[in-house]
Amino acid sequence: MRIDIMTLFPDMCRAYLGESVIGRARAAGKVQIECTDIRDFTKDKHRRVDDSPYGGGMGMIMQAQPIYDCFMSICKKTGAKPHLIYLTPQGKTLTQQRVKELAKLDNIALLCGHYEGVDERVIEELQPEEISVGDYVLTGGELPALIVADAVSRMIPGVLSSDECFTEESHYSSLLEYPQYTRPYEWRGRQVPEVLVTGHHANVEKWRREQSLIRTAARRPDMLEKARLTAKDIKFLSDLK
Ligand code: SAM
Repeated sequence: MRIDIMTLFPDMCRAYLGESVIGRARAAGKVQIECTDIRDFTKDKHRRVDDSPYGGGMGMIMQAQPIYDCFMSICKKTGAKPHLIYLTPQGKTLTQQRVKELAKLDNIALLCGHYEGVDERVIEELQPEEISVGDYVLTGGELPALIVADAVSRMIPGVLSSDECFTEESHYSSLLEYPQYTRPYEWRGRQVPEVLVTGHHANVEKWRREQSLIRTAARRPDMLEKARLTAKDIKFLSDLK
């Protein structure tokens, strides 16, 4: 998969993308993530990419032409028409389900707005999917784009050490993950739950499933409606009440 990030601040994104799991996955060629500076496509002799809003008001608006030309250049370079996503607080909130679907695509382009946003006409022209990372407003689309790139990349086979790394995780199966522990066995008088040190695999699995159900019921009862529950899970939950 190839992900192109269109931004006025490519170095912000590159710093994150060069590290840890994603940095290693890129170096190993499991996922290609490129950052393109929208400013390189301005036709303004002073390299301006924004201007004040028609009708007045605060802040600056990113102009349509550099964004459009940037996307066209990515299409040309990749020989594809990437699925374009505009990161905006006005979009649909990102979910793990959408992440899973996006991970099946070959090419994605992520458009980061900045300042007060982008000229609406480039949205009308390019018809991107609009994604929000939550009901709050950030200064730019770079963090949201990195969230999408990170969440999607770790679904790509080979990016994590094994598929189990994500199939067990919160949200993947509409349940929150069970609590996790590591060494030492005792810390500030708190011991690891006994079942985890017995080496009894079936009991560990049962305990983890039950902990997931307890956590989800307590913290995100709304998620249980979508979760794939077994008859045993349903009985366990009703006994909890
Ligand atoms: N004036 C815009 C509005 O009220 O909808 C907000 C602009 S925001 C200050 C600047 C840019 O940050 C947006 O164009 C978008 O790319 C990004 N952004 C901010 N909050 C976001 C969020 N919750 N999800 C996704 N992108 C966001």
